[in-house]
Amino acid sequence: MGKTRSKRQSGQFVVPGQPLGVIEEFMPGQGTYVTKGRIYAKISGRTLLDMQNKMVSIYPLVRGVRVPRVGSIVTGHVLNLQSKTAIVRIFMIEKETLSGYFSGLLYISDVSSSYVDSIHDACKRGDIIRAKVISETNRIYHLSTVERNLGVIYSFCSRCGHMLERKRYRMVCPKCGKYEKRHAAIDYGKDLS
Ligand SMILES: [Zn+2]
Repeated sequence: MGKTRSKRQSGQFVVPGQPLGVIEEFMPGQGTYVTKGRIYAKISGRTLLDMQNKMVSIYPLVRGVRVPRVGSIVTGHVLNLQSKTAIVRIFMIEKETLSGYFSGLLYISDVSSSYVDSIHDACKRGDIIRAKVISETNRIYHLSTVERNLGVIYSFCSRCGHMLERKRYRMVCPKCGKYEKRHAAIDYGKDLS
């Protein structure tokens, strides 16, 4: 008994299928399963050995962490523009705010169903944009704003930094009067989340 207990402690990283002990030693807790009297990890995580109740459980490692998937609606800010691409820092998946960021790329061909002359007519650095994930390669998420509910939801005057207001198909700065172009979502300026 002392021999087996001494090498086991809470906080050990385990992967699914890893043996955790036998039912004579422990009760199988959350995140475990039993086959032929042996307890195994059902999920990846860290072990929690409750010596008082003789129970072994697993704390899931990725609890609450969300990752964008193809089809997810994401929100991010435009970090930079290249010649045909906007680089987006995704900070929200659906309605869930993330503690970190994912990188998204919006190609000019995925901005709109109609022709877009320049990515600079679609969005600018600092804008907040809502987009759909259309593919993923090596954790880079390719985005589309073709649907009407997608596109820029907040944008800022490139001259004075004030938030732009939508005026028909253009954006206008209420402070300095500058007109700018954006590919805006249908509810531009209304989504506070
Ligand atoms: Zn302005």
